[in-house]
Amino acid sequence: MYIYICICICISQAFTQDLPPPLHPIPATSQSFTPRTDSVFSDSSGFFSMDTNVPGLSKLCLSKSGKPKGISFRNYKEMFQKMEETFKFCTGCNALPENLIEGQSLKRCIKCLNVYYCTKECQKNNWPLHKKVCKTLRLVAIDRLVEWLMFLGDLPFPTNKWTKPTSQVKCWDDWLSMQDDLSARLDAILASPNMETLWKNASRPRPEDPDLRQSVWRIQSEFLSRVLTVGMAIQQFSLDPYAKPLTIHIIGASHNETMGAKLTDYDELSRMFPEHQGIEVVMVGPEVVDGPIMRPPLRAFGPRKRVFMSAHKGLYHEFWEDVVEKEEAARPDLVLGFHPGFHANQGLIEGWLPTLLLLRDYNVPTLFTVFNENELKYSLEILLELEMNIQDSGANPFSSQKPEQVQSSPNTKPVYCSAHYIRFQGLLQSPSNSSVLGKSLEL
Ligand SMILES: [Zn+2]
Ligand SMILES: [Zn+2]
Repeated sequence: MYIYICICICISQAFTQDLPPPLHPIPATSQSFTPRTDSVFSDSSGFFSMDTNVPGLSKLCLSKSGKPKGISFRNYKEMFQKMEETFKFCTGCNALPENLIEGQSLKRCIKCLNVYYCTKECQKNNWPLHKKVCKTLRLVAIDRLVEWLMFLGDLPFPTNKWTKPTSQVKCWDDWLSMQDDLSARLDAILASPNMETLWKNASRPRPEDPDLRQSVWRIQSEFLSRVLTVGMAIQQFSLDPYAKPLTIHIIGASHNETMGAKLTDYDELSRMFPEHQGIEVVMVGPEVVDGPIMRPPLRAFGPRKRVFMSAHKGLYHEFWEDVVEKEEAARPDLVLGFHPGFHANQGLIEGWLPTLLLLRDYNVPTLFTVFNENELKYSLEILLELEMNIQDSGANPFSSQKPEQVQSSPNTKPVYCSAHYIRFQGLLQSPSNSSVLGKSLEL
């Protein structure tokens, strides 16, 4: 079966399964959200705002509202409504519900059921722009609801044993060709009680089954995209998981990479490299969310044929000083960063600088992913300025298939998680660099 995969933020989502409790206090949602026009920030998604206990969320809400305030919901319906409210502003003139005059209300585009307008006129004037993305935004609107199933355990669905050698699985189609009974697995999710609860409570009708199947796949692809990208990096750097155990650090790990993360999240690596000598994945970043993976990294080799996950909340260069240098964690054989985002502004570059220099000066094989070509270009410029030895960059064959909407600016062309990658290791060797060697690490 060919799944429509031509069509992936990382909406961060957080629903807990213990709903509905009597009152679920959550920090401010973006009723107070002011539309922004900057680049892709996963943190502005609606689901994100629904979490009850997310470290950093109050900071996020603070940045939007200026002050923290508690909002609660009593049942699923209210929960979905509150999520939808974070998308409610006029796409034409940016008016928020509180800016409307009496008798006016925000009405949804009936084609995508995603964006809102305050008046017919705003919609009409906006159409030349919106028509370019309306079809994709329709998918995005479905995905952000179906994504809830990730938090209830319906997703990710189990995957098959690899029947092809790893070197022959070069893109999604190759991976999909090893998943014979995929449609049965998708249909089981469509028929699940949680799927029913979802559409009973969402503020829109249930889409047709083919639409839902594709949505389930897109969401799974975003999850799998990270694991398969790690596998791709292992191969591209010619690391051999059969020869020795590997330690992989995932740096700048975000909320949505770690929220609800399970110890089994990187198990696809064991299907990719069966009989490997043990693979350790350590997620490190200031946004890392507490959960089962929050445990110390391994000091000795981990179990063979198993992926061992752990997490550390903090900046990577501090983790390196406090943990790796003290030999409380193994040095990495490979480092990955999904959307490190250091290209976005000076502050972020400065935050990342000690880490980037560390990676360079310790000659660590590193792969970063970015959302789009623009980000790729700016990131490459920064890395070149740091005289990084860039080995390769380009489109990621395991890019997420789920389109991501820039929430504050919905008519911006949707992007896909890990659409492109940059691979680098060590210092660029050139005559002018000989004097730079050895003096750059000032941590
Ligand atoms: Zn308007
Ligand atoms: Zn539309």
